[in-house]
Amino acid sequence: MPDQFSSSSNAATQTDFLIVGAGIAGASIAYWLAPHAGVIMLERESQPGYHSTGRSAAAYMESYGPPQVRALTCASRAFFDHPPAGFAEHPLLTPRGALFIARTDQLDQLDAHEALVRSVSDKVQRLSPDEACARVPVLRREALGGAVYEEDACDIDVHGLHQGFLRGARGAGARVVCDAEVLGLAYLDGQWRLSTSQGEFRAPVVINAAGAWADVIGGMAGARPIGLVPKRRSAFTFTADAGQDSTSWPMFMSVDESFYIKPDAGLLLGSPANADPVEPHDVQAEELDIAIAIDQIQNATTLAIRRPSHVWAGLRSFVGDGSFVGGFDSGLSGFFWAAGQGGYGIQTAPAAGETYAALARGLAVPAAIAAFGVSAEALSCDRLRAKEAAM
Ligand SMILES: Cc1cc2nc3c(=O)[nH]c(=O)nc-3n(C[C@H](O)[C@H](O)[C@H](O)COP(=O)(O)OP(=O)(O)OC[C@H]3O[C@@H](n4cnc5c(N)ncnc54)[C@H](O)[C@@H]3O)c2cc1C
Repeated sequence: MPDQFSSSSNAATQTDFLIVGAGIAGASIAYWLAPHAGVIMLERESQPGYHSTGRSAAAYMESYGPPQVRALTCASRAFFDHPPAGFAEHPLLTPRGALFIARTDQLDQLDAHEALVRSVSDKVQRLSPDEACARVPVLRREALGGAVYEEDACDIDVHGLHQGFLRGARGAGARVVCDAEVLGLAYLDGQWRLSTSQGEFRAPVVINAAGAWADVIGGMAGARPIGLVPKRRSAFTFTADAGQDSTSWPMFMSVDESFYIKPDAGLLLGSPANADPVEPHDVQAEELDIAIAIDQIQNATTLAIRRPSHVWAGLRSFVGDGSFVGGFDSGLSGFFWAAGQGGYGIQTAPAAGETYAALARGLAVPAAIAAFGVSAEALSCDRLRAKEAAM
């Protein structure tokens, strides 16, 4: 075999940043890194978006999640509303509205939720049971104590957003290598060496955007675990009863997040809003999840759900405090975490991607994002370790 061929087939591919995972987290970081540096995304599946990113409920709600998540969501709004020219063919957000409903014994919880929604938006209304039924005519009036309406909630075009990030990253020179499972990571002479099913890749910085597998990748690299727990959430679509036009209904959910329903391309999407801890894997919905959701939905509404048309589940992965982990591991040179996106990884992706790309380049949180209260300290994995040490 000629020397030239054998050396090129054995040579590792070298770049500036290797990103493990091409879901929304990896793709959004690549989008902001690629104009400044060499970027390669390594994705185990044959296409990006097969796991959590392709299984979401596609909701944008500024009141959802812990403080850093709400800050990242609000900081993402400008990008969603005005993406760069050519980023997406269709608007990334479509107005939907979100209605939080409460029974009479949940009114204290509704008061607290109303205060939370008002802290992020001034487009909030407290609704009586009759007013709530006027917005969603299938709600059982007798089961309702009141409701809060968050007008700014929207549907996200998740596919458009994800593809926009990937296209933009590629346009700036990044590569996505699919069917490339990362099997091992070693740090030698200032370089991370990633062995994959497609050969070896090297870079001084590796970004761990492996979703539910982030602690698995961390473990291969020798990092201390961040305590990530993947949680199964199941969902299904079904047809609204004959004569009901649900297209203009808001998304609606119980204020204790025990179920939600969202109009979805002419159907209704329902979920028991479950959060069942599991090992990272290609998760499927359990029959019981769907039975529970159907029961809850039929108790709260007059909808008769005969047969779901499509059933699925995905993983929402959380660390102990429920917030994101984004930043370098202080115990491991050149190892950057982008993990713990829980149930908010899509609605936060524009600002999270831009923030993580800046931090990975050794820069500060961009000022326009920091203005919303996003801070590197609050996102760092050191905060988790400090909490561990204090316990
Ligand atoms: C039912 C459901 C509803 C949701 N609804 C919403 C919502 O309405 N709004 C919202 O903002 N968020 C929502 N989410 C959450 C959102 O989907 C996630 O936060 C987000 O998709 C996480 O993105 P990610 O890129 O971190 O993970 P993923 O999309 O899972 O991407 C991680 C990638 O890493 C790859 N990978 C893992 N290990 C390796 C390896 N060894 N080598 C190479 N590649 C590897 C995987 O193949 C995967 O493609 C929902 C989630 C679920 C399940």
